[in-house]
Parts: sequence; C-alpha cells; structure tokens
Amino acid sequence: MGIVQGKRALIVGVANEKSLAWSIAQRLAAEGAEIALTYQGEILEKRVRPLAAQIQADVIGELDVTDDAQIASVFAALKKKWNGLDLLVHAVAFAEREDLRDRFLTVSRANFAKSMEISAYSLVALARAAEPLMEARGGGSILTLSYLGAVRAIPNYNMMGVAKAALEACVRYLSVDLGAGNIRVNALSAGPARTLSSSAIRDFHTMAHEVEARAPLRRAMKIEEVGKMATAVLSDFSSGVTGQTLYVDVGYNIVGV
Ligand code: NAP
Repeated sequence: MGIVQGKRALIVGVANEKSLAWSIAQRLAAEGAEIALTYQGEILEKRVRPLAAQIQADVIGELDVTDDAQIASVFAALKKKWNGLDLLVHAVAFAEREDLRDRFLTVSRANFAKSMEISAYSLVALARAAEPLMEARGGGSILTLSYLGAVRAIPNYNMMGVAKAALEACVRYLSVDLGAGNIRVNALSAGPARTLSSSAIRDFHTMAHEVEARAPLRRAMKIEEVGKMATAVLSDFSSGVTGQTLYVDVGYNIVGV
C-alpha cells in the first residue's frame, strides 16, 4: 500500500513532461493517490491529456489562476467528482522574460503586480477554494514550490525572487489560518531544474552548474527528488509539519564561500 493510498489530489502546473508538477503527479499516483490535473489554454491541454492518461488521472478543466470563474468551476467539478479533496499541489509561477535578467530595479508596476498575482496570490485563491473540500475530508495538505531566490539575491532571478518571498510568507500565514481545520501548508524550495519556466531566466545554466560544483552532494538535483519529497510532505508521514519551506536542493542552500 502506498503512502498516499486513496488520497485525492489536485495538481495545478503541469505544462509538459519536464514540469516539476509532473514529477509530483507521477510519484503521488505511484503511491496510490487519485489525481486530477488542470491545464492552461488549448496548447497545453494537448500536452497534459496524454500525460494524464499515463497515470489514469482525470483532466478536471482549464485553469488560469488569474480567473476566479475558472477556479470556481474547477473546484465545483472536484466537489461533484470526489465530494472532497485531500491534497493540493500549486506549481505555478510567472515573470516576464525581461524581468528575469539584468537589473531588478527596472521592473514596471504592471509586471510586478502580474508576477505577484500569478506566483503568490494564486496560492491564497486556491487554498481558499480548497478549504471546504478539505474540511469535508477531515483535513488536507497543500504544497507549493519555491526557490532559494526568495531569501538570497540570485543574479537574474530578480522579480521571481520577490514573488517567491511573498509565496513563502503566504505559506506561513495560510498554515495559521487553516491549521485548526487540520489543513497543512508547506513549500518545497527546489534546486534548479531545466523546465519551460526556468528557460526564461538568463544564465540559468550558470546557476545550475554552480549547484553541481558546490552543493554538498556535488551533483544536480534530480526532478524525481522533487516528486519523492513532495509526496512525503503531502502524506500523513508529515502530519506534524506545517508552515515550512523545506529544501530539496542537494544541500546547496547551506554552503557559503
Ligand atoms: P513549468 O513546467 O513551466 O511549470 C510552470 C507552470 O505554471 C506551467 O504549467 C505554467 O503554464 C503555469 N502557469 C503560469 N501562469 C499561469 C496561470 N496564470 N495560470 C495557471 N498556470 C500558470 O516549470 P516548473 O519549473 O516545473 O515550475 C513549477 C514551479 O516550480 C514554479 O512555481 C517554479 O517557480 C518552481 N520552481 C522551479 C524551479 C526550476 O528550476 N525549474 C526551481 C524551484 C522552483 P503556462 O506554461 O501555460 O504558462
């Protein structure tokens, strides 16, 4: 029997087979969870449907996290399907390409707001929609994905670092609000992985090589390691853990010069 046997999980943020959310979906499914996925737009739907079929997941609907009507409709569909929800994975972030290079100082008011909305506020919006469905199951577990740029100034990460700092603070405040209902909220701070999103960050390769050379484990993080850790944190094995940002980064965050 798997460590999340019979749990019902919504995963938001699968774009393709390289997505961190896909690694989490595969591992949760292998450990016995039932999975629902969302997609953003027609192009991604074509990628997400065949992936969903590989793990017998349901594609529950389209979800752009800036659209309240789509959030309401996805959670209404989940209520109809399962009448409850145990696990929620939020693996969504956005910054304009121009804000992932050179100076942070140049970010515009509009781009700043858009990044914060998609990358941080969306966790609040999804957690709020999930709360009644998780309460119906006696509690739940919510997980988001962050990066070291939340707490350190990493070259070129710029706007996304500020959004991740807000996201990690949201995790703490949401864990306080939702804890009385036995709903846990945590973040995994993952090491650099080559995905659609990370390709927008200038000099991403330098960041990745720096980790391989200097991290305690002297290698890159494997995407499967995010899936494994996420499953452990989402599962009841972590029933005493909430409000945390946990590092899955081959130890890189602890080293200095
Ligand atoms: P990814 O495969 O590109 O996933 C990012 C997802 O966010 C995509 O599915 C993307 O959809 C979605 N998204 C963006 N705007 C959205 C919106 N308005 N509504 C709904 N979905 C939206 O990249 P990833 O690297 O796996 O990223 C997943 C999470 O891990 C992100 O929070 C990222 O910051 C975090 N993370 C990544 C790394 C890394 O090195 N890759 C390291 C640490 C943390 P579209 O493609 O349609 O925009």
